[in-house]
Amino acid sequence: MRYKKQFLIFAFVIKNYQDVKEIYGVHNMDRGIRLISQYLKANYPGITFFYCKEGRFISVASAGTDSSRLCAELKERFTGPWTSKETELYLCIAFAKLTSDTEIKSVELSISSVISALNRAAKAEDGLCAVVCENDIKEYIKEIYVKKILELTVEENLVEVFLQPIMEAGNLRVIGAEALARIRDRDGNYISPADFIPIAERNGCINTIGEQIFDKTCKFIKENSLDSIGLSWINVNLSPVQFFVSDIANSYDEIIRKNGLDFNIIHLEITEEAMVSQSLLLRQMESMKKKGFQFVLDDYGTGYSNLTRLQKCPFINIKIDMGLVWAYCKEPNLLLPSMITSFKSMGFTVTAEGIETKEMAEAMIRLGCDYLQGNYFSRPMPMRDFTRAFAMFA
Ligand code: C2E
Ligand code: MG
Ligand code: MG
Repeated sequence: MRYKKQFLIFAFVIKNYQDVKEIYGVHNMDRGIRLISQYLKANYPGITFFYCKEGRFISVASAGTDSSRLCAELKERFTGPWTSKETELYLCIAFAKLTSDTEIKSVELSISSVISALNRAAKAEDGLCAVVCENDIKEYIKEIYVKKILELTVEENLVEVFLQPIMEAGNLRVIGAEALARIRDRDGNYISPADFIPIAERNGCINTIGEQIFDKTCKFIKENSLDSIGLSWINVNLSPVQFFVSDIANSYDEIIRKNGLDFNIIHLEITEEAMVSQSLLLRQMESMKKKGFQFVLDDYGTGYSNLTRLQKCPFINIKIDMGLVWAYCKEPNLLLPSMITSFKSMGFTVTAEGIETKEMAEAMIRLGCDYLQGNYFSRPMPMRDFTRAFAMFA
């Protein structure tokens, strides 16, 4: 049943909850939560706030509640400390609320949407109030749907692997390929990795699906002579979140051995991410390198990678993100040429991603890129189609 809501859902989160808990201890944090609860009860008798773990407070108030005033007052209160005999805590907060004109399907759905908006606000600036709109609710419903499909896909090992060729810049012949994951919804339509990989990373599914993709790529190599399709190697994406699993080096090593492959035939593409510390990244990369794995830095220019971090990690190749490639092709700049020159002088080979036209390919060859990848050469395609398409060019 759809209905117009008659109430306001208002929530706030302590943004520095984890840090404060780690620094001052769980007991002090608990005292802080109690102080806040007492304050809310005393100052807002008409609104019932519930504490729902990890620094999140949520309330279902009447539709007439002035949420802007509530925000302003709480913001003001949180500029001061939360003090008791044993505790003095400085906490910062962010808010989320459901707008009064939002049509919702169920109370549970709307609360879940507010919590997911709260998580978003927690990552943004202090005191921000994320307003849940219909789009958020649609996104949330979509996320639940993708989660279900993902679970089924993993359970039944149904993930598909597509391959996109990587061309050698010198002769424009295929030299390698990137393995890209695909899953299908109930109607057989593909769901984009951009939609399911972040979910898999959040719920831990990435570990199983990552191994399944790796295993399927290894099987493909075992069953097809790479030479006959002109390939020297295949790149497989490895989410840095997978580094949280301590024995990843052993499990990937086992898959390589089970399929009787050489290590130099598979490269692991990783993107540097804020959520994985540099020390964990380095430790895991080193233990995989010891086994014989080789690494490629993916999407350079999108986030956390920088030259200092780069020097410390054992990469053999750097893939320039398509955003940088497109920006240069639209309006040439000094940044990209000097970046490519620096990478090459540091001993890395360089791949340009997102090549969509002949002109873009020519521009990247002029800048000295070693390899090119993009829809101009070929879109990613199922493994069987890839073998057929490239057997004749080898
Ligand atoms: P990525 O690793 O940077 O892969 C390249 C993406 O760019 C692919 O998108 C590919 O289809 C797309 N692409 C290639 N050439 C062009 C072009 O000329 N124009 C445009 N517009 N796009 C192009 P896809 O397959 O949708 O994958 C998106 C991202 O999802 C990947 O980016 C990667 O970060 C992640 N991903 C895909 N498969 C896996 C996987 O097996 N494991 C993990 N951990 N991540 C994966
Ligand atoms: Mg990649
Ligand atoms: Mg990439």
